[in-house]
Amino acid sequence: MKINVIGGGPAGLYFAILMKRSDSTHDIAVYERNGPDDTFGWGVVFSGKTLAHLREADNVSHRRITEAFAAWDNVDVVHSDQKISIHGNSFSGISRLQLLKILQDRSSELGVKLHFKSEVNNIDEVAADCDLLIGADGVNSTVREKYKQEFQPQLEQRSNKYIWYGTHQLFHGLTLTFREHAGGVFAAHSYKFNDNTSTFIVECDPLTWDNAGFAQMSDRDTRSYLEDVFAHDLRGHQLLSNNSKWINFLNVKNAHWSYRNIVLLGDALHTAHFSIGSGTKLALEDSIALQQCWDKTGEVNATLQEFERVRRPVIEEYQAAALESCVWFENARQFMHLKPIELAYDIMTRSGRVDDESLRRRDPAFMNAVESERSA
Ligand SMILES: Cc1cc2nc3c(=O)[nH]c(=O)nc-3n(C[C@H](O)[C@H](O)[C@H](O)COP(=O)(O)OP(=O)(O)OC[C@H]3O[C@@H](n4cnc5c(N)ncnc54)[C@H](O)[C@@H]3O)c2cc1C
Repeated sequence: MKINVIGGGPAGLYFAILMKRSDSTHDIAVYERNGPDDTFGWGVVFSGKTLAHLREADNVSHRRITEAFAAWDNVDVVHSDQKISIHGNSFSGISRLQLLKILQDRSSELGVKLHFKSEVNNIDEVAADCDLLIGADGVNSTVREKYKQEFQPQLEQRSNKYIWYGTHQLFHGLTLTFREHAGGVFAAHSYKFNDNTSTFIVECDPLTWDNAGFAQMSDRDTRSYLEDVFAHDLRGHQLLSNNSKWINFLNVKNAHWSYRNIVLLGDALHTAHFSIGSGTKLALEDSIALQQCWDKTGEVNATLQEFERVRRPVIEEYQAAALESCVWFENARQFMHLKPIELAYDIMTRSGRVDDESLRRRDPAFMNAVESERSA
């Protein structure tokens, strides 16, 4: 079978790997507009469960990914200068660049044709030239836009602003830090992803953003401002920019997932707010699901129908949880009166999917502290 993939991010590369691995006679080409080293972004996170799926799907890339990992089991919530740690939450971080390198190398080894610096604009032409076209071209997907009548995307821009930075201050755990500053409320999502670097995402509501005057600030001034807000947490380390820009999170859904021989995958198909750390995980698991549907049916149309049938409920559940989490952060200002332990509990249960029992299993000491506070 001939497969063309638009987008050499995690979704496109991983699907190419899995298909080539299952049948080396497939002719697979990936078209990526950037060069192999041009990617932006810092670290991405995976849960323990995702890793098990990756191991089953391709143990070679799984081994390389886990060798490059930083792993932890705690969520830390910092509020009013107090840190509350909640254990039993298994996560790992890896740099996005390193992850892409591993997937690029593995694709090449298996015989996938990688075309870098190859932006695809004529989608019809690329679709006509193959049996299956994968639109794995990210959140601002050209494939989705080209066939928007058919996919019927629902795109919702959320109100908070956020910006991705890195820092050499190491956060040993998924750390959520809240700082009130000049009448505004800032939240930082940070985690270490290698021996000397952490991801540091700052998020704030539109009022905080306007009052700080970020619209008129240069990159250097923005970083200085935020270094001041999070001075206690960064401990003298700078924020590192990598083409970092303030953006609003875009919630992406599609009424239809495929059209003719074309299917969307990863961020092109759906997004989930970064506070639940699952964009890359969902992209990779989409690829696993699509490849399994091919194995099951062996025919393009049936594969695409089956993919939507089995995968849509999983994605909808994630998106619902991610939206609850997104809304919580949009309203963070109204929780700032809580004591640190109360805030930590509220955060852990914000998506409505974690209850007291599961928190007790993860970390009995944390639940004991929550209950002592309740009865105080
Ligand atoms: C720049 C960037 C930085 C990120 N940083 C982080 C991070 O630090 N931590 C984290 O957890 N998540 C991060 N994310 C989000 C997370 O990586 C995504 O959820 C995940 O990458 C989704 O994978 P994907 O393969 O669907 O899409 P993407 O990773 O977005 O990959 C899509 C690829 O398609 C290419 N492309 C787009 N249009 C075309 C075209 N017309 N022709 C050819 N190629 C095209 C793009 O260059 C891109 O490489 C980042 C995303 C991006 C785009």
